Amino acid sequence: MPFADVLGHDRIIEVLRRSLRSGKTAHSYLFEGVPGCGRKKTALALIQALFCTALPDDACGVCPSCRRISGDNHPDIHLIAPLPDKRDISIEQLREMQHVLSLRPYEAPRKACIIDPAERMSVSAANSLLKTLEEPPGDALIILLTENAGMLLPTVRSRCQLIRFAPLSPEHVISLLERNGMTAEAAALIAPMSGGSLQRCLELDNEALVARREAVLSRVSQLNINRIATVFDAAEELSGNRDATVELLDMLLSFFRDAVHLGAGSGDIVNRSARTAIESIATRCSLPRNLELLERIYETKRDVQRNANPKLALDHLFMSMADSGR
Ligand SMILES: [Zn+2]
Repeated sequence: MPFADVLGHDRIIEVLRRSLRSGKTAHSYLFEGVPGCGRKKTALALIQALFCTALPDDACGVCPSCRRISGDNHPDIHLIAPLPDKRDISIEQLREMQHVLSLRPYEAPRKACIIDPAERMSVSAANSLLKTLEEPPGDALIILLTENAGMLLPTVRSRCQLIRFAPLSPEHVISLLERNGMTAEAAALIAPMSGGSLQRCLELDNEALVARREAVLSRVSQLNINRIATVFDAAEELSGNRDATVELLDMLLSFFRDAVHLGAGSGDIVNRSARTAIESIATRCSLPRNLELLERIYETKRDVQRNANPKLALDHLFMSMADSGR
């Protein structure tokens, strides 16, 4: 997998490629970030680039080494994870890894090993790794993946080059979901709930989300300033804790972006299977007013993320929307 297949981490990849070109890759890396944001992909891309016989700072994708890695059967790459039904990565697993790393590589210039998730190493396993991290046998490359570097022993952390991965942006999540065969509409619905993790998206229940979207659209279309209960009931039903309310606001953003597109005469919308409901939002008020509402939703989202009370924030937002729909 060439680096170009890793989305959303351009700066990190530039740093890694520079170190490959200068022959100064670290012995041990610690990749920190939410699971599913691309840490493992980046680790494999780094190893592939290091092993590639054709290019100095990327994977060519066609040399025998690249092909073996793409096929998941390179003999010099070792993945360490908790064994099935075990909570921790054991010291025995680490000892075996250290033994394997001390053997000569089969075909690569050096061996490589990924430990995932590194925070699941038992204390004795982590302690046994210290010397290996300092002087990897046979110049091996060791990459630890973790959700939170603070969960590792300071002695392990300090021996690795720490690289922090930001959560994926919704736009990158959408591209990745589409590459996974999801329709643009389903991807756009799920992406705001991803928390920047592709993995989390693939685990979400699409049917439940479609049902949620319908419930939200129905509440929004009933907002009426002359029946004030429609405002407070909608806020009561749709607000939740902070995260759930931010997800709701992301959903509203996607509706209003679509409504603005329709109002501006573009038929290109994301929520295609909810087109009728979106059209009714679009025609409730003028295009400039819908743009204002879109801005209001952004502001509400910022407020809720900062510290505003979710229910009160939605009361205010829904009041504006109801007022627009007179
Ligand atoms: Zn290659």
